[in-house]
Amino acid sequence: MLIVLKGMTLIDGTGQVIENAVLVFDGEKIIEAGHADEVHVPTESIFYNLTDKFVIPGLIDTHIHLDMHGMADTYHESLVEDKLRTIRAALEMGNTIRAGVTTVRNAGSANYIDIAVKRAVDEELVVGPRILSSGKIICMHSAGSGYFPGLYYEADGVDENRKAAREQLKQGADLLKVMATGAIMNPGGVPGASQLDVDEIHAVVKEGRKAGKHTAAHAHGAQGIKNAIEAGVRSIEHGTLADDEALSMMVDNDIFLTSTLSSNFWMLNARGKIDIPQFMSEKAKEVSKIRQENLHRAISRGVNVMMGTDAGTPYNFHGKNAMEIIQYVKLGLMDEMDAIRAATATAARGIGLGDRIGTLEKGKLADCVVLRQNPLEDIEFLASLGNIYLVFKGGALISGEVDTAQWSPVSPLGPE
Ligand SMILES: [Zn+2]
Repeated sequence: MLIVLKGMTLIDGTGQVIENAVLVFDGEKIIEAGHADEVHVPTESIFYNLTDKFVIPGLIDTHIHLDMHGMADTYHESLVEDKLRTIRAALEMGNTIRAGVTTVRNAGSANYIDIAVKRAVDEELVVGPRILSSGKIICMHSAGSGYFPGLYYEADGVDENRKAAREQLKQGADLLKVMATGAIMNPGGVPGASQLDVDEIHAVVKEGRKAGKHTAAHAHGAQGIKNAIEAGVRSIEHGTLADDEALSMMVDNDIFLTSTLSSNFWMLNARGKIDIPQFMSEKAKEVSKIRQENLHRAISRGVNVMMGTDAGTPYNFHGKNAMEIIQYVKLGLMDEMDAIRAATATAARGIGLGDRIGTLEKGKLADCVVLRQNPLEDIEFLASLGNIYLVFKGGALISGEVDTAQWSPVSPLGPE
């Protein structure tokens, strides 16, 4: 049976707004999209009359850690044993899709939990977004990697990096994640310092390409960003200290930037931040302002910026993902339409799914969110669960009117 959504205002992800619009789904795909006068509406269909509602493409979060739960001290995440973490992660993916996020790219999980959760979603054992999983994060021997047991795969030299990439692919990874610089979230990490060398990252990129998969690089410092781009990665995660040369390289090579402002936002603003380890909040404070300024520079230079939240980091609960793009608007970095595109069309291209998702057009997968209020009027409407009327993934209705009783308590709703 075909599904018809009609009467709504369609914000289709291409930058267009269509009043009195119609979408027709056949199975998982969109077969018609446009103004009511221009679209053939089949009579034998399931109809949703969405007059006064607003429809946007399903949101895409390109940087989460699904097996981290927003605990104040990330070290405590490691103390939750894997079987329990897997179940929690699966529940949190339910929260994520109920919040309107229909696709996520996981940027590192302990012991391949992301791959297990992805399978559970694909087999429809649990409700969740479409998941791209990275497996473990490939990094060099360094002080920080012992902080999260099972999250990192240490590799030194070209041969070990090649093998590390092959291991992730063997386990079922959809993309590869490398550490081009140090990190904020572990005590030994120096965010600005370069880590894996160009030839080491290139060995990973090359293995991924052979399998049709892209590589994402964690990179704060300018030199590490340049190393990663030279090695052929598709996206830069964080990009905190990018200099002009690094930004130009991103533009020239069509690289995507995942800024993850949310990780700083929640760490610095959430209730109970006192529990956050001092080394972490100090580093977060240090980079927060720099990251905002650099994101502004990146946007003005024309870098492809896509929504990535680092969900799972302290107080950065799964299901609060939209706060990332709300920040872009609140900080004056983007207007509402561009912010929505950063979380839909641009994000889809950035994770290599631009031909399948990200816009609501004929031939694309039917992933969309129906909202009660217009996010172009106030972007904060995206953050309110009460504003989410329906969520479809691949033509299937995932949640009817959002019932907050369905919300799993593993992920508190957090401060409103
Ligand atoms: Zn991350």
